[in-house]
Amino acid sequence: MAAPKRRTSKMKQRSRLAAQAWKAPELGTCRKCGAAVPAHTACPHCGTYTTHRGTEVVVKKVD
Ligand SMILES: [Zn+2]
Repeated sequence: MAAPKRRTSKMKQRSRLAAQAWKAPELGTCRKCGAAVPAHTACPHCGTYTTHRGTEVVVKKVD
C-alpha cells in the first residue's frame, strides 16, 4: 500500500482545513427594500429579483 513519504506539516494541514471550513454565505442587499439577500436569489421580503443591470423582475406577489 502506498504510504506518505513525509508527515504533513502543521501549517500544511491547518491551511488545508481552513480552506475547507464552512463560511457563511456572503449576503448582498435587495436594491428595492434593502433586506439581506444571497446573490442570484429573489428577495424573500419583497419578492423581486434585480439583475446587475438594474432590471427588476417581480417573482412573486407579497400581500
Ligand atoms: Zn426586497
